[in-house]
Amino acid sequence: MPSQVSIEIDKRCSPTLTCLDVVTGNVRLDLSSTETITAIVVKLEGVAHTMLAVPKKKPTGSVKANESKRLMTETHKILYISQTVFPPENLQEHLTNRSEGLTLPPGRYFYPFEFRIPINNKCIETTGITNMLHFKSNLGLDISRKPTHHVHTTLPPSLSGMEEATIKYFLKATVKRASMFRMNSRQYHPVVFLPIEPPRPAPSGRQFFVRRQHQFRSVSQTVSTTVRRGLFGKMRGPSRTVSMTPGEEFIVEVTMPYPPILVPLEPIPLKIYVLKKDGSEPPKVFLRQMRVHLVCTTRVAAHEYHKEVVLGLPLLEARDLSVASKRSSRPADQLPPERAHEAEFDARKWAQAVIPDMVPPEFKTCNIERKYALEVTLGLSHLSNSNVDELPFLFDVHVWSGIPPPQSLVDEKSAGQGHLTEGTGTYMDTTAGMGDAVNAAAPPPADADPAAVPVDLPTYDEATGSHAAPVSGPRRTFGQSPNYYTNLEELDNEKS
Ligand SMILES: [Zn+2]
Repeated sequence: MPSQVSIEIDKRCSPTLTCLDVVTGNVRLDLSSTETITAIVVKLEGVAHTMLAVPKKKPTGSVKANESKRLMTETHKILYISQTVFPPENLQEHLTNRSEGLTLPPGRYFYPFEFRIPINNKCIETTGITNMLHFKSNLGLDISRKPTHHVHTTLPPSLSGMEEATIKYFLKATVKRASMFRMNSRQYHPVVFLPIEPPRPAPSGRQFFVRRQHQFRSVSQTVSTTVRRGLFGKMRGPSRTVSMTPGEEFIVEVTMPYPPILVPLEPIPLKIYVLKKDGSEPPKVFLRQMRVHLVCTTRVAAHEYHKEVVLGLPLLEARDLSVASKRSSRPADQLPPERAHEAEFDARKWAQAVIPDMVPPEFKTCNIERKYALEVTLGLSHLSNSNVDELPFLFDVHVWSGIPPPQSLVDEKSAGQGHLTEGTGTYMDTTAGMGDAVNAAAPPPADADPAAVPVDLPTYDEATGSHAAPVSGPRRTFGQSPNYYTNLEELDNEKS
């Protein structure tokens, strides 16, 4: 068997790593023959890589519509920690000439390593060929340019399953040999990373809402059996008269606690109310169908090119419901007068709508940004078997990791900056689809504005995290697609 190098992470480390985790393990070296080794280096790296197909430009700069494409890529090394595990520290100072290395007889060797994962990314400009932008043309030329834009914020989560963007974390061990005729051996070990959450705002009791006003059109048919006489009399059957009668106007309201923060595998705290604008008793309404999609928007940048990739992830597709609106479970004396007669649908009917484990939390890094919205489509009718009208609701939500930060970190954060800023209350209505949006001048029953949810995530200062203990408690698996674990060499443009 030829000599081999492998990376073994200690079993007590969580399979899903997060900020402040201490990653320990060994580099295992199996030597089948005597080798002279100058160094064994272990690195913990994170790489955010984007790849966009862009039109080829003529030398004049003109672009034709059907022209062939070229791939433009941009790579940021968002995490880079290095540790030399061989020669051992106690021997390093005795070596007069490091390039000569140390000779090891055949056998199995273990060299321990230990890394503490930081909170924030650090895309420092490195020398050499890391942090470069590559243009790959069909001539096989790679022209490298340094990215000019960096974001300094919480380390982004692992990202896989997309063509245009990936974020991979891995350990890499390199065995450097003394002989220039012997190849250095390298081994990669992918790891899955899920960052800690930003500090959560204290519960405020405020509700976030999206509303639509709606009115059923009840259809009545009058069938006349009179047979007409005359030239065409035999050709005519009974006549039908169809009339449309407008029903009562009512408001449908989709609500969540404010700010709307969702976590994969946890229930979505969605409530649906029916009420009247004037506060009187609303008509009975049937929920017949319900569709919930998580709209995932990824903004991908590769130098001057940008692309927005939007994917709708189905969380619920219920087609055969027959859920009648019932009097609200909230005590009437705690409601404002205009909501005293509000009705609601039984929230247990959509309890199975849960964001799957593989969904990363929202994030922003140098060349990739991920955001979320929830699209809730309700199929409503005024009878349990009458025509179904579809009412769509679309609103921005936060998807967070589900890993709360250590309390000491939150305390330091809030001591330094006070509480998170909350949005001020203005009214929002839905903008597309069937049904009329409620008049924007109408007084809101709740005082939160989803648009006022802070756009940029609050981040922790690296210095405040330097003394924080690692995060304890269970973590979700955060499963990745198979391509997460392959082709790590291609991402790693460092040849040492
Ligand atoms: Zn960067």
